Amino acid sequence: MAGYVWDFSEGDKDAKDLLGGKGAGLAEMTRLGLPVPPGFTITTQACREYMRDGDVPDELRVEVTMAMRRLEDAMQRHFGDPADPLLVSVRSGAKFSMPGMMETVLDVGLNDLTVHGLAAFTGDERFAWDSYRRLVQMFGRTVLGIAGEEFSDALDKAKAARGVASDVDLGTDDLRELVGTYKDIVREQTGRDFPQSPREQLDLAITAVFNSWNTERARLYRRQERISDDLGTAVNVCAMVFGNLGPTSGTGVAFTRDPATGRSGVYGDYLANAQGEDVVAGIRNTSGLAELDRLDPEAYADLRKAMRRLETHYRDLCDIEFTVERGKLWMLQTRVGKRTAPAAFRVAVQLVDEHLITMDEALDRVTGAQLSQLLFPQFDPAAERELLAKGMAASPGAAVGMAVFDAATAQAWAADGKEVVLVRRETNPDDLGGMIAAVGVLTARGGKTSHAAVVARGMGRTCVVGADALDIDPVARKLTVAGRTIHEGDVIAIDGSTGEIFLGSVPVRPSPVSRYLEDGLAVAMAEAPDEETRELVAAVDRILTHADEVRRLRVRANADTPEDAERARRLGAQGIGLCRTEHMFLGERRLLVERVVLATDDAERQAALDALLPVQREDFVGILREMDGLPATIRLLDPPLHEFLPDLTDLSVKVALAEARGDVDAHDVALLGAVRRMHEANPMLGLRGVRLGLVIPGLFALQIRAVCEATARLLADGHAPRPEIMVPLVGSVQELRLVREEALTIMAEVAAETGQRLDLPVGCMIELPRAALTAGRLATEAQFFSFGTNDLTQTTWGFSRDDVEGAFFAQYTANGVLAVSPFETIDTRGVGRLVRIAVEEGRAARPDLHLGVCGEHGGDPESIRFFHEVGLDYVSCSPFRVPVARLEAGRAAV
Ligand code: PEP
Ligand code: MG
Repeated sequence: MAGYVWDFSEGDKDAKDLLGGKGAGLAEMTRLGLPVPPGFTITTQACREYMRDGDVPDELRVEVTMAMRRLEDAMQRHFGDPADPLLVSVRSGAKFSMPGMMETVLDVGLNDLTVHGLAAFTGDERFAWDSYRRLVQMFGRTVLGIAGEEFSDALDKAKAARGVASDVDLGTDDLRELVGTYKDIVREQTGRDFPQSPREQLDLAITAVFNSWNTERARLYRRQERISDDLGTAVNVCAMVFGNLGPTSGTGVAFTRDPATGRSGVYGDYLANAQGEDVVAGIRNTSGLAELDRLDPEAYADLRKAMRRLETHYRDLCDIEFTVERGKLWMLQTRVGKRTAPAAFRVAVQLVDEHLITMDEALDRVTGAQLSQLLFPQFDPAAERELLAKGMAASPGAAVGMAVFDAATAQAWAADGKEVVLVRRETNPDDLGGMIAAVGVLTARGGKTSHAAVVARGMGRTCVVGADALDIDPVARKLTVAGRTIHEGDVIAIDGSTGEIFLGSVPVRPSPVSRYLEDGLAVAMAEAPDEETRELVAAVDRILTHADEVRRLRVRANADTPEDAERARRLGAQGIGLCRTEHMFLGERRLLVERVVLATDDAERQAALDALLPVQREDFVGILREMDGLPATIRLLDPPLHEFLPDLTDLSVKVALAEARGDVDAHDVALLGAVRRMHEANPMLGLRGVRLGLVIPGLFALQIRAVCEATARLLADGHAPRPEIMVPLVGSVQELRLVREEALTIMAEVAAETGQRLDLPVGCMIELPRAALTAGRLATEAQFFSFGTNDLTQTTWGFSRDDVEGAFFAQYTANGVLAVSPFETIDTRGVGRLVRIAVEEGRAARPDLHLGVCGEHGGDPESIRFFHEVGLDYVSCSPFRVPVARLEAGRAAV
């Protein structure tokens, strides 16, 4: 087997780590016998070694020589042969697709001599000089780092001198002259001549592709897509085929199903007499595949056959790049295609119905992130609106924002909190920052496979492309369309599902999938405006139902009010995993809390607590009634008490002013004393959670009694309440023991008073490293654990969860200390390790210990996978994330 270099005939689709996505696809197509031009792939391993050592491995040079010889034999043509030269393309191809981020050099092997051979072989002298021009330009820019404008300015000058508007109007002599000018530019800019040696061109192009892995924009893209910086890219060297050899040639991109909607049937863009880069760059507007059918039915039939073969083989939607050279079809790339969220669900279910995949596989083909995207609102069809123009629907959603005409403004305005729509003639990889910052992207040029469309779809950004009625003037920062002028800052609305562009703001309404999740299948189907929407809703229903059948993790919600509990239940929550009780001490009840704090003796404090009891009981009755039959974990008060008291500075000023006026309020003075006493430098590490419960007598007892009485009342009324009592911020087993003993006493008292059987589970949160590390001891007193991964992350990393995100996380992600915020996705190595220890030691001490998580991570797709793996019983998350958690818990199980 080869080392650094693999011929296309040696690899297969599973070798993506080594061959990159493109190399693996080319290899697989070669194995299938599809028409792929011969070539070879230089592995990502070679790139990694190049990045490590700053030079290519010696063996690589030898292997490239050998591979080039095999390629020459296959093509019966020689690299550098002046009479009949072999030319190659050199393309990047990482494991994960990074559209337009990295470099490509075409026509490598052309020089002052071989250009004549190319002219002779193709019988087209103009074409040969145009190819040479393209090579010097592409090579100059990507390999030698010369600014692209140097070349485009020279091209513009040549056109002006000829009095023509388009490149295609330049003749052979003009192009020959232009090659001379370009070579002068290379000499002036780099102090050296454009390399005439084909092998030197090849070697430099290969290292240029390696280097393009680490450009600013490639790094930014990877950060956005969470792709590791260590992977490196493969390099594909492939015999050139030409789509720009006249009207019987062309190039295109095709999908085996519509990647925007999931509609079945082939779909794509074709551009006659063009090279592949012209399609992807969106420089010229393309035609549909029907154009190829019209121009060359035979090549079209071959393409259809190849696409069908690929889709059956990959059992998934494939995207394809192809070239037709004088009537002969060549396949240049295939991969499992990126798709929008609606397309992902619809295609998965279509493939099940076509018996190509199972429901488990269908579940694996969609993600929680895609489901979240389907919850995006859409424009209200009944609302008044003024249509400005229509482009192509490239990435769904309804975006309303101020028009901006460059990426830098988009970023600056978004940083000021403004919603912006980035409007460009076409986008290029340098626009990435602006695309991330904008709520929507609108372009005048390019098809559904242009850079803007592909990138926007990848990140779920609403996008409309190819709206060629728009006359965009980025310098004057305005666009004109249909006699109207939109200036920077004017509000526009774009519909990524229809391609429509509206003037001003348009009201939005909930998505049909939200409707389904909230109100059920029947309502959503009845309301769906068309068959496509019905198909989508039905697909989501089938996949989510399957997820519910296969998942082992149960999904609960974090809900503190009857309204949230009701919503969570409708969205499929199987209980409440965290009912925070702090809001129950706010509003008018604050005065009672003040009385508890200011009490000078037990009797006074008890009176205040007694006044809180009935209101607190009603809170629990409301929530437990909503969750009837399902468990509801009620957490005893957690935050420091001073959070329920007036602000120290405000109160000091108030008292000082009153003193100055000579009209002092004794209550305020007492309160100020208490607030001062309770003031802490680090309240998050201070008197909160169980510590507060043990220090303020009667506080937890009040809450426990309220839960017990609410439960007894509901039981008496024939309901099935299932409350669980949870103690926060426990660090030592003795803390838990004290609260548990108190809870058992109160349960017994209330049971005796009401005649109801009360046996509420008592457990604790695991949100301190010490709790995790002593879980075996805690489990002797706890019937359940719930991982409070917000605090556990805070206390494990020593990051303040309230300050850190704004303060330095941006920098920490930029320089690679953090790939993602550990408050968003669980840090499996550190915090996750503590979770694992607590699970193992807790279960060892008490085999029936019930385990869940109620930190924000409970709703995060990647974290859910981890919680499934460590063997938790449930995750608990915000109500709106419940459907995503159900889906991801299902995906984790298949
Ligand atoms: C936690 O710390 O993860 C938790 C759920 O509690 P809170 O966010 O209320 O501190
Ligand atoms: Mg906490």
